[in-house]
Amino acid sequence: MGAQQVRQGFVDLYGAEPEGVWSAPGRVNLIGEHTDYNDGFVMPFALPHVATAAVSRRDDGVLRLHSADVEGGVAELRLDALAPQTDRSWTAYPAGVVWALREAGHAVTGADIHLASTVPTGAGLSSSAALEVVIALALDDLFELGLKRWQLARLCQRAENVYVGAPTGIMDQTASACCERGHALFLDTRDLSQKQIPLDLAAEGMRLLVVDTQVKHAHSDGEYGKRRAGCEKGAALLGVDALRDIPYDGLDAALARLGDDDEVIRLVRHVVTEDQRVEHAVALLESGETRAIGPVLTAGHASLRDDFRISCPELDLVVDTALAGGALGARMTGGGFGGSAIVLAEASDVETLTKSIESAFATAGFTTPRVFEAVPSAGALRVS
Ligand code: ADP
Ligand code: MG
Repeated sequence: MGAQQVRQGFVDLYGAEPEGVWSAPGRVNLIGEHTDYNDGFVMPFALPHVATAAVSRRDDGVLRLHSADVEGGVAELRLDALAPQTDRSWTAYPAGVVWALREAGHAVTGADIHLASTVPTGAGLSSSAALEVVIALALDDLFELGLKRWQLARLCQRAENVYVGAPTGIMDQTASACCERGHALFLDTRDLSQKQIPLDLAAEGMRLLVVDTQVKHAHSDGEYGKRRAGCEKGAALLGVDALRDIPYDGLDAALARLGDDDEVIRLVRHVVTEDQRVEHAVALLESGETRAIGPVLTAGHASLRDDFRISCPELDLVVDTALAGGALGARMTGGGFGGSAIVLAEASDVETLTKSIESAFATAGFTTPRVFEAVPSAGALRVS
């Protein structure tokens, strides 16, 4: 849905023009999976898919929320009644952002909001962060809070962690808030220092496909929590603040110190090698060896599948089929247990690869996946 439609939707609902319209994208993570809660490195880029919000201020302590994508009318909430983990519906995401802003001392006095999103939900493409960031940016603009993008991302993460109650890292919100068109974002999740890495695959005759398997295995949230706790245990056993502090060339020594705790050994090995893969991929992109990131992506998948153990048959099938069909590299992306995989391929191979992935899914009896090309797009912005 375009910005004009969202503006019109606001007028139809609330009977007046909004003060403005903002958008914030979903993201795909090129490399750096499950590193963001270990203070490590990630390299996402913004999708062309966005959440768009039309917003006006109110001064009476009322928050009105409406999504074009959800059945039901306008939700009306009182700001002084907002409390963490009291809302199990979608409104917890935008309300959580308002709560986090106010809790941090920012004078947000109410708002009317109507939104719509083209980011697929639950596909590992971060529709939740798009929703949070678009609201945060709109309120920052309207209430002239003067917050920096990384500060907005932190507040959105707090909204998701504390208010919604989902223990996610900082990557998704930072990607939505800070990415730039034509670039991947090399982000150090410890201090949020960042570098924009030019990424124009089309100019080099390549494409990056996103394959949304459209499956979400039920136990994913609990498994995410277990991995996170296992990483924290590893850091504690090794006497570091976070696994980020284990250098790649000190990995073998660190693993030896973990004795026979096989579970923690595998988690630590994934995180430390994954941080190294992000740095390697950045170095390759910066030296113009774009095709050479393919095997780095594929190695990332093997590590997520065998060490971190968060892949699933659908994701493995995408990767195996893509590689057998001549893709440069492929891996699952996002939290795991479903969601999406990415495939880096020569432009000339895209059609055949897409067909062979679809037919492999049909043969396996899986739901037909949704395949689209991902082009590094703009981060959050004011549309009108
Ligand atoms: P992901 O971020 O990977 O898409 P999440 O489970 O983190 O998956 O977030 C999805 C949730 O975000 C949805 O269940 C819904 O509550 C909320 N959401 C996302 N997009 C919209 C939208 N357009 N309208 C209302 N709620 C949305
Ligand atoms: Mg999410």
